[in-house]
Amino acid sequence: MDKEKLKSLGNDLKYIPSIYNYCDRWCERCPFTNRCLNYEISEEHFADPESRDINNELFWQKLSETFQATLELVNEMMEEQGIDIDSDYIEEIKNEEKKIRETVDNHQLIISAKEYSDMAKSWFELAEELFLDKEIDLNKKAELDLPNENPNKEAAAILDAVDVTMWYLHFIRVKLMRALHGKLEDRFEILDDFPKDSDGSAKVALIAIDRSISAWGKMMNYFPDQEDELLRILVKLEQLRRNGEEVFPNARAFVRPGFDE
Ligand code: SF4
Repeated sequence: MDKEKLKSLGNDLKYIPSIYNYCDRWCERCPFTNRCLNYEISEEHFADPESRDINNELFWQKLSETFQATLELVNEMMEEQGIDIDSDYIEEIKNEEKKIRETVDNHQLIISAKEYSDMAKSWFELAEELFLDKEIDLNKKAELDLPNENPNKEAAAILDAVDVTMWYLHFIRVKLMRALHGKLEDRFEILDDFPKDSDGSAKVALIAIDRSISAWGKMMNYFPDQEDELLRILVKLEQLRRNGEEVFPNARAFVRPGFDE
């Protein structure tokens, strides 16, 4: 995809501006695929299955083409607007970025989010046998065709809970990092009344936490013997949610383009 193509797609009013900045990147479940520029570009540029394989050379070639086209576009816009970035300024930005990154990495929210993902990962590793037993149990129920039992529905609900928790496992931390980064980097957020990108990112992280809490809660119904372990995970997530809301008190009110309009 070249620069001109990117430009013409960017000007198409059918796409909701910036919708992809405040979504959960779960395109398979997204109701806005036909209004998302990011989705359109990925589908068009990475149509060939080989181009989606990170181990295939075509993937890196396509990625490099996209970067190149974006860079050309950015340079062109800077030229049009008379923006000239000298090397001293770039160095200053680099130093500032480094400081921000260190502060973000050591922030309690990020440490907690990492603790949560580690706890969840450990549980899944140990629960492998649990899932196998559940599968045997549900198959038996299906064979017996017992009244008031719906093993297919139960299997689908468990699968969905696993999908949700796995999808957001690292996503929560990544979005909180972006939110904190934006909060610290207030150069672009000088207008108090203007919606802040950091609040938008924090809102997406909070929604991911909400959904994860709900999914772990369902898991507890299907694996009652695991109540203690699952409760520990839920408490961790609940703390993360509260702390997230404290650090970003305006996040819940942020209106995400498309999703909250
Ligand atoms: S807005 Fe929807 S389609 Fe676009 S990147 Fe996000 S999840 Fe995918």
